[in-house]
Amino acid sequence: MMRMEMNVTLRCTRQCAWCVKLMHLKNVQRSDVTIEQARLFVEQLRVQQARMGRLKLMGGEPAIHPHLVELIDVFAEAKDVIGRISVQSSLNARSAPALRGKGGALKGKARWFAKTPTKKDHTPWLISPADLGVTGKYGIDKRCGVQEGCGFGFEKWGFTSCAIGGTLGRLLDVNPYSQRFFRRGIRDICKHCVFSLGPKLNLVVRKAAMRGEIVAPTPTFERALPRYMAEGGEVDFPVWSR
Ligand code: SF4
Ligand code: SF4
Repeated sequence: MMRMEMNVTLRCTRQCAWCVKLMHLKNVQRSDVTIEQARLFVEQLRVQQARMGRLKLMGGEPAIHPHLVELIDVFAEAKDVIGRISVQSSLNARSAPALRGKGGALKGKARWFAKTPTKKDHTPWLISPADLGVTGKYGIDKRCGVQEGCGFGFEKWGFTSCAIGGTLGRLLDVNPYSQRFFRRGIRDICKHCVFSLGPKLNLVVRKAAMRGEIVAPTPTFERALPRYMAEGGEVDFPVWSR
């Protein structure tokens, strides 16, 4: 079963220090996926006969998207290419009563998961294998753990090879987006991604980083972060439109 994570917005109400989407460093303005783009997304899946067994809507914080319900209506009508729909939010029923819970607008259309990722889920991860002098084959020659577990990705600018491809591409200034759904990682991004090492080596490297034997972020990311911050919350890559 193929899975997809869609970042419906890159704005968030929180600033978790370990945010894998780097929301603690900056919110990306004008990043909300539009209804028109949601329709284009569905059309493209149909053209490519690519069925997503699970579509998870994330962010940023998806609940602050002003048209989240309408987006879900578009996806819920596309049962031929989209299976289960879920929303991963950091807000619970009390915080978002209009959307979830009894009588919530999403009832029967999408499942709601309230969870804020914890530090241990994701850190440390800004470790470039290329900086360590090793080359991973996952993501490019075979599916990596992120593609298998979280799935492929989509943001306002198009499809990405995996759920974190957009974040890494924007950070590294390598265009991660395509108007076509694609499965293979982009070499210039994957070579700097710790998940390209595969599960065993990834764990070895991350444990070494936790012990302080590898300093994260590694030099590639240390160089990339100031430029990323200086961009001021905008993205230069072309927005997907007809
Ligand atoms: S709630 Fe999620 S998206 Fe927002 S800052 Fe925390 S980890 Fe990042
Ligand atoms: S960037 Fe990382 S997570 Fe994404 S496809 Fe490449 S190896 Fe996998």
